Amino acid sequence: MPSVAGSLWEHAAARPDAVAIRAGADAWSYARLRNASAAFGGELRAHGVRAGDRVLLVAPTVPEFVVVYLGAQLIGAVVITMNTMATTPEIDYVVGDSGTRLLVAWHEAREPAQRVADERALHLRVLGPGAVAEEGEPVHNPADLDRQSTAVLLYTSGTTGRPKGVELTVANIVDTARTFVEQLHLTSDDRCGTGLPLFHVFGQAACLNSALQAGCSISLLAPFEPVAMLEMIRRDRLTMVAGVPTMWNAMLHVAGDFGPDDFADLRMASSGGASLPGEVLSAFSERFGCTILEGYGLTESTAAATSNTAEQQRIGSVGRPLPASAVEIRDPEGAVLPAGEVGEVHLRGPSVMKGYWNRPEETAADLVDGWLKTGDLGRLEDGYLYIVDRAKELIIRGGYNVYPREVEEVLYQHPDIVEVAVIGVPDERYGEEVAAVITARPGAEVTPEELRVWAKEKLSAYKVPHLIRFVDALPKGPTGKIQKRALDWEGLTNASCS
Ligand code: AMP
Repeated sequence: MPSVAGSLWEHAAARPDAVAIRAGADAWSYARLRNASAAFGGELRAHGVRAGDRVLLVAPTVPEFVVVYLGAQLIGAVVITMNTMATTPEIDYVVGDSGTRLLVAWHEAREPAQRVADERALHLRVLGPGAVAEEGEPVHNPADLDRQSTAVLLYTSGTTGRPKGVELTVANIVDTARTFVEQLHLTSDDRCGTGLPLFHVFGQAACLNSALQAGCSISLLAPFEPVAMLEMIRRDRLTMVAGVPTMWNAMLHVAGDFGPDDFADLRMASSGGASLPGEVLSAFSERFGCTILEGYGLTESTAAATSNTAEQQRIGSVGRPLPASAVEIRDPEGAVLPAGEVGEVHLRGPSVMKGYWNRPEETAADLVDGWLKTGDLGRLEDGYLYIVDRAKELIIRGGYNVYPREVEEVLYQHPDIVEVAVIGVPDERYGEEVAAVITARPGAEVTPEELRVWAKEKLSAYKVPHLIRFVDALPKGPTGKIQKRALDWEGLTNASCS
């Protein structure tokens, strides 16, 4: 059956009592999840939702999210998932852009969705714990779904402009889930877990869908909090966890008696979404006895593209292309560059989106002959991809290219630095100046001058951050990625430490 809902049916028939989802003390078996999803699909139908109609879901990471997500896909509807922090104008924009037919909102995030539904005379289904029926007959034979039909629309700003809906097909979703299962050697005996939100592609396509494809359990934690994450790993004896680098870093800085014993069952920690500082990787494996494997992907590639594996790992790289996928590095004119040269990463394969919803021009600009332009700069070495940085984050100081990531890597090695973001700040003399925004270890008494002297031992002079500010916290996006765009250098005031 060509859908993730299809694999749910198979697992529910074979092992109805096996746990599919754990959320705190709540556990949902495969049979319960199947029945509730079927019932929800039936409910959507009763509201007139048909194959191809868009259903907007605003919900946190709770089992009911999964019920709606699967129930809608089961009847061929297109699910759009949005952050529960979304405001009325943000929801309204997505509803208008996508032509949403029906809204579903978690009770605590009801208000903005209600306003949009009222304004546009649309039905809003409010969800709450226990507010989904748990009995229902399969309302649809998933085998009827066209593999090329759109299953999910995920809104992302991509490289420019207002958010666009990334169209992921049934084939994108199911082929990607299968690839992850093979790549990670997931079986029904595994116990996966994540603190990533399910509305974002990483939690949704890489974690949730792969676990359901494999027939194993997935433990959900949201919002992420490092102590709770460590406790979940211990309590549920997780075998595989996924997260973004700021999560591993936060877990690393948790005091207390967490150590390798808590990670005894953990065979894999998978990192993506942003570059993983080498320092975090090595300190993590030293403390917890578990190696983090880094991968790379985008919303436009169903979270998949390349990955390191237990068998093939090059630290510092994001691994090799996933099976059936290909990576090329090209110059701005589109010519393919030889190994070792830095250019824009291009991707091809079963995970690459169908296009941007109703945006033929943007689709044609980013998707050429099946190759996706990623907006990321990278290089290939021995078939391993190294992400140098996002093209638009490149700093050009006095004509020299400075890749923020390289400077961050060095600063992360400093014992007093917890988190750092390197950005370009407009400068009259050099065009841009290299600036570092840092959160320091509590109680540390390090000065900007000390850090500059220290960085100068490891970096060419033009890369050394001339401007340094300490802050209490760096702005993070919904998945926990550091949001450099939200850093307003002029508006930053120094916290302690400087
Ligand atoms: P999103 O569409 O929100 O998943 O963001 C995708 C972007 O995250 C990519 O275009 C990269 O810039 C970045 N990204 C994802 N994985 C990595 C990684 N392992 N290293 C560096 N950047 C990454």
